[in-house]
Amino acid sequence: MSVPALIPAPLPTLPNRVSGIVAEERSVDGRLRLTLQCADCLSTETPDMAVLMTYVFHPATSDGRRRCKACRIAAFPDCPCGRCTEDRTGSLYR
Ligand SMILES: [Zn+2]
Ligand SMILES: [Zn+2]
Repeated sequence: MSVPALIPAPLPTLPNRVSGIVAEERSVDGRLRLTLQCADCLSTETPDMAVLMTYVFHPATSDGRRRCKACRIAAFPDCPCGRCTEDRTGSLYR
C-alpha cells in the first residue's frame, strides 16, 4: 500500500475572522495562535505571535487574497510598494 499524497486543500476561514485565518488555538500561556493559509499555494503558517505573521494581504491591492511571501513575489514581481520591496530583497532599504 502506498501512502496517498497529501494534497493541500483550501480551508474555510473561521467565522467572524479575516479571510485566510483558518484555525486558532490558545497556547498554555494564554496567547492566541492563529493559523494562516496562503490563497495561492495553500500552505499554512502558525506564527508564535500575530505580529510575526508573514502570510498577509498585499497592501496596494484589495483582491482579498492572503499570500505567503513567495506567492506575493510571484504575483507582484514588479510592484514598487514597500511590502514587495521588502519581500524581494529582505529589507525595505535596498
Ligand atoms: Zn503561497
Ligand atoms: Zn506591492
